[in-house]
This record gives sequence, C-alpha cells and structure tokens, in this order.
Amino acid sequence: MIKTKNKKDKWIKLICGASNEDIVAIEDLCAIYTAAGVDCIDVAAEESIVRAAKKGIEWAKKLFKNSPGLMISISDGNDIHFRKAKFDPFKCPPYCPRPCEKVCPTSAIDNFGVKKSKCYGCGRCLNSCPLNLITDYEYNLSKDDLASTLQKIKPNAVEIHTDIKRLDSFIKVVSILKSSETKLDKISISCGLNQSAKKSAQPEDLLKALWERYEILNELNIPLIWQLDGRPMSGDLAPTTSRDAINLFEKIGSDLPPGLVQLAGGTNEKTYELLKTNNLPDGIAFGSSARKIMQPIIEFAHKNNKKLYEYPDKMALAIKKAEKFLEPWKSS
Ligand code: SF4
Ligand code: SF4
Repeated sequence: MIKTKNKKDKWIKLICGASNEDIVAIEDLCAIYTAAGVDCIDVAAEESIVRAAKKGIEWAKKLFKNSPGLMISISDGNDIHFRKAKFDPFKCPPYCPRPCEKVCPTSAIDNFGVKKSKCYGCGRCLNSCPLNLITDYEYNLSKDDLASTLQKIKPNAVEIHTDIKRLDSFIKVVSILKSSETKLDKISISCGLNQSAKKSAQPEDLLKALWERYEILNELNIPLIWQLDGRPMSGDLAPTTSRDAINLFEKIGSDLPPGLVQLAGGTNEKTYELLKTNNLPDGIAFGSSARKIMQPIIEFAHKNNKKLYEYPDKMALAIKKAEKFLEPWKSS
C-alpha cells in the first residue's frame, strides 16, 4: 500500500539492546522515551532488566499518560545483537593510548577490561586494538531457558532475531513460544541481509525467508511485525547508515507478508528525510542513535549515583531531546 508522507503517528520502538544490562541506564532510557511517546520498548530477556524497564515506564506513565508495550528480544541462533566484547587487561602494555576506550560509546572499557553490564556488543572496539586483544562472545538466552523466562517475565511482545538460513531453529523457537502459553500482543521478526556472515544474501532471499516464517507464525493468530534490519547497531555511526535500511525497505517493503513493517539497524535522525515521500514504513525502531543522544545526560546523573528523575530539570531536557528526535514520526 502506498502511504502519503504526512506527520501521522507511526509505530515507534525504542531498542534498549539485547545485550544491554546497564540497569540504571535502562530505567532512565525507558522513562525518557515513554514520556516522549514511544509505543514499545524492546529489552533483553532478563528479569532484572525487565524490572528496571518497568520502573522507568511506570514513572513516566503516571506523568505523561503513555503506556508502551514491553517486548523482549530473543534469537534463534548466533546473532551480533547478542554478544559482548572481552579482553585480558593484564596483556595491555602500559604505553597503549587505549583506542578501545575512546571508541566505546557506553564507557564500558576501563583499566579493568570490559564492564560486562555496560557492553551492548556494538563491536566498535573489536578492530580498534593494535594488538588484537579484543574478541567477542555470544551472550544469548538458551532455548532450554526460554519457556521459563517467558513465564516469569510475561512480556507484551517478543522479537525473534533470525537469519535467512536458520529456518529449523526458528521453528524450534516458535514451538517453545507456543508451548509456553505466553499471551502475546505482537511477535516481531527481525532479519536483515548483513547477518549471514560469509556471503551476503540478496533481498529476494530475505523475502522468501520471511514468507516461510509467516507460514509458521500465521497459525498463532498474533499480529506480526516485520523488522527490516539495515545495518545492525550502526545508527549512531553516520547519518548515511540509514541508507541500508531504506534501500532494503524500498526493494521488498511492499512484498512483505501481512503485518506491520518496521525499519531498524542504522536508523537515526536522518532516516525520515531520506525516505521517499510517498512510501513510509508503518513503524521505526531506534537503538544506538536514541541511546547515544542521552548518554551524556544519563552519565551525569549516574556519576553522582543518582537516577535522572532526581534531576527534574535534566529529565525535562532529556524528554525534550527525545521528543525532537521522534518528532517526524509523531503527529503531536
Ligand atoms: S565498544 Fe561496543 S562492543 Fe566494545 S565494549 Fe563498548 S559497547 Fe561493548
Ligand atoms: S587497545 Fe588493546 S592493548 Fe590497548 S588498552 Fe585496549 S585492549 Fe589493551
């Protein structure tokens, strides 16, 4: 369907990060973006993280009358959204100018190595070390724990990160979802072209893979979201990172299976203006770009061992910034 470009409300999701365990930052981010009007917040499938997200949402809900759904992200296999970086700090020479520390957007790296809770696996540090000391490792919920985690967390929605070649694994995850009897308002399927490590797939391959997944999910009778991942977790690198997500959407957006179409991966403040005026997706998801603009303000509060709520002026400023960031996608 061709949609006209006007400022009508689009479905907006905040991605807190599937490997992000910075509980204090998550609580603040959820409060800020709930106040600014997002429809959904996507967090890691971990009870303590969900608790922090709910606290932030509750704070803003009372004051701003917005109540976003809570989505948890899971993966049916290895996926760069579910990883963390590590290195042994004892191997670092004292003369190193520490480029790893400089490139990390969340200040996760210090003299003691990578602080696990602050690393969300963006990968920026991986090639920064002249001695190649930094590696990544998978950080993902095992399929064995999925059903019990879902029963404990009771999310409103689940996002399944999948890859074109992982159909069997996808089927397994869906059968666990089904048997867990979790009542879900939505299921999102996140897939892109960049996730196949060796050879990048073609848009038509992705389309075929998404239709295969639609056949599997259709019987659940739950509204679906198709999240097209342009360049995973790169939205704050450069304004042009938006282009991959947009190109993908323009190639296959109108041929996707029934459901809401959402862009992610490289989305940032430039995405709206780079889209064609007569063709907008139903929704947009912002991850690293939405977090990056809040990082200094959140860090200021945390350095003083406080939450942002405890600085009403700074919280008001953060909400204003978030509203401006989301403004092209909202009617008011
Ligand atoms: S740069 Fe990215 S991957 Fe490396 S430690 Fe920081 S958050 Fe983690
Ligand atoms: S760049 Fe490499 S050697 Fe230097 S501090 Fe970072 S991990 Fe250590």
